[in-house]
Amino acid sequence: MIAGVLVEISHKNVDRIFEYKVPKELEKDLKIGVRVLVPFGRQTIEGFVLEIKNTKETDKELREVLSVVDQEVVLTDELLALGKEMKEKTLAPLISCYQVMLPKALKAKAGSSVSIRYETIYRLSNVPLEDSYPSKQQEILDYLKEKVSASKKELEGFSPSSLKTLVGKGILLEEKKEKYRMTYQKREASIKTLTDDQKTVVKKVITSTPQNYLLYGVTGSGKTEVYMEIIDYYLKQGKSSIVLVPEISLTPQMIQRFQERFGDKIAAIHSGLNDGEKYDEWRRIVRGEVSIVIGARSAVFAPFSNLGVIIVDEEHSDSYKQSDSLPHYDAREIAKMRGEKHHCSVVFGSATPSLEIMARASKGVVSLLELPHRINGKSLPVVDIVDMNQEMKHVRGHFSKPLMDLIQDRLDKKEQVILLLNRRGYSSFVTCKNCGFTFKCPNCDISLTYHKSSNTLRCHYCGYGEKVYTECPKCKEKSLSNLGVGTQKIEEELQKYFPSARVLRMDYDTTSRKGMHEEIIQSFKEGKYDILLGTQMVAKGLDFANVTLVGVLNADTSLNIPDFRSSEKTFSLLDQVAGRSGRSEKEGRVIIQTFNPDHYAISLTKHHDYPSFYQKEMDIRRRLKYPPYFYLCDIKVKGKDASYTFQEALKIKNSLEKNLPQMILLGPSTAGVFKVNNVYSYHIIIKYKQDGSLYPLLSKVLNHYQSNVKVGIDIDFNPSQIL
Ligand code: ADP
Ligand code: ZN
Repeated sequence: MIAGVLVEISHKNVDRIFEYKVPKELEKDLKIGVRVLVPFGRQTIEGFVLEIKNTKETDKELREVLSVVDQEVVLTDELLALGKEMKEKTLAPLISCYQVMLPKALKAKAGSSVSIRYETIYRLSNVPLEDSYPSKQQEILDYLKEKVSASKKELEGFSPSSLKTLVGKGILLEEKKEKYRMTYQKREASIKTLTDDQKTVVKKVITSTPQNYLLYGVTGSGKTEVYMEIIDYYLKQGKSSIVLVPEISLTPQMIQRFQERFGDKIAAIHSGLNDGEKYDEWRRIVRGEVSIVIGARSAVFAPFSNLGVIIVDEEHSDSYKQSDSLPHYDAREIAKMRGEKHHCSVVFGSATPSLEIMARASKGVVSLLELPHRINGKSLPVVDIVDMNQEMKHVRGHFSKPLMDLIQDRLDKKEQVILLLNRRGYSSFVTCKNCGFTFKCPNCDISLTYHKSSNTLRCHYCGYGEKVYTECPKCKEKSLSNLGVGTQKIEEELQKYFPSARVLRMDYDTTSRKGMHEEIIQSFKEGKYDILLGTQMVAKGLDFANVTLVGVLNADTSLNIPDFRSSEKTFSLLDQVAGRSGRSEKEGRVIIQTFNPDHYAISLTKHHDYPSFYQKEMDIRRRLKYPPYFYLCDIKVKGKDASYTFQEALKIKNSLEKNLPQMILLGPSTAGVFKVNNVYSYHIIIKYKQDGSLYPLLSKVLNHYQSNVKVGIDIDFNPSQIL
């Protein structure tokens, strides 16, 4: 037997199958889709078995497989085929496409550190029972007759010596069983009677032939409830479901709703789990012990063999695209590919759909489903846009008068407030008010950010840090700006203006410790705090009945990012966060503070006017030849020697331009962040309607630069942003 193995080294030159002889004793365990340990050069590394040849001739000087790593197949036939398609669509190494499908615990290096946990289980054997036993033994037997099996922990209350005796007599069997780290408990009362609108949507999905849907439903229209009903339908048919949620809205609240309804039928995969927990969740899926997976981007690869439906919530979120590492895949595209293979529907839901999907829906390529109203006729919150240019005289700290007044009003009424500090972009750098000096990272082309807890300035790209100065290093004046606007700064202001208010902060710092995210949400829900202040984290997925005011302190930061999607992102962020207000009986209000009140991405949020936003933005995209009218491909050329890198980038562009006359090529231009960790990048942007010979040409470029150590090439099709 010969095994074709793809080794776990992400390098173009080894991104192909290598053959190994399979020793006789390994033949029965070695299957397509398991990992094996093989010698490679002077190392021993892991690889995936992609081919098996049952041949007698083992003449060639092949080396031997050392051992088989998995008992279970980790890559099903479907996933193996999917990986090959991903490679074609992203031009990333095949091995990276497989690695991204598996939990980190399974990756070669981490594998050894994560272990399976076991517990001891007792159950009755087949030995015929006598009529009675000594009372302490009888108690145990009675308990087990009812429970069938019980763990050591459950039996703690019984006599240990009697337990031992029963095991000794062979009446009880003592076994080791795997114990999962996560458990989910069902709660019956959680099922809601759907409204007519909701019923119509559910019915359409479960009775039509499988297809792709856009569920366009305003915030609080009951989309999540609809998802659960559809999933329940397929569950009863013995089929499984995948629910994708952006990491940021994969809140404990969301998981709780699914757990209450489906109990231990769910597995949840999110960044709050450690590697061991993720590994357990994944094993429960592989073994067919769960039917529903709820998770962020990579959960789209959940190895189910009988999918009933795939749900993609908050479809517009750019977190579905893997931008920062290879492969640059888009979970929304993978969902469609898997939907086709499984003949199941894919439901994309959003209150602010991406232009791409709305454009497809209006052409009828995707079926449009709508939930235009909030549950039970509740109205969407009233939004006031506050022009901060006008307010200047009245502002206190970062608070306009209308926002101050409404916060006070809510505090008086014992209602709750959510405040968003929009941290997208570069809002918290330190500048000198006298000479304009800005602290910048010496390695990266980016401003340093002030961190109060350590009193340092830090680079968010490379981690560089330096101490804080009191005077400007350039003009020596003591006029450094108030060290940026961070959530901590706003928290201090709140304490000053509303001394009695109980303020809870939710940002990267306060949620980095495990379990903190849950704790914050729970204590806010229980009313232990009046104001929840946070970054983008507070904008999505949260459902608090007592929140009747949402304030956006600075709507503009995300608007100023030099990216063609910045208007779209701003509009959807504002609409999402506004949607946190007034979700229950009490009416909700929203205050949006901005220096650009007339910008359509801001003014149109006043009436939650997505349709007008869509029209306006589509006009602009058409004029500027951006998606969804054109496809984009972003080629980043990187290197430490700026002028050499630029020359190579120029060569690439010129040769592409010659071969792709029908496409629009831009650049090479310096990246939004030109230098990261002393590596410079240049962008070449390609705009096109049909890919023609683009893929083979780019493949050639990649091959050509494979052995060039001075320049690296990173290709991203349909980039979520160009920075
Ligand atoms: P969305 O996902 O569209 O923001 P949700 O599914 O979170 O909306 O619903 C908003 C709120 O309305 C939630 O508190 C939810 O429990 C409640 N809800 C949803 N559907 C119903 C229903 N049919 N009857 C009563 N309450 C509902
Ligand atoms: Zn840096």
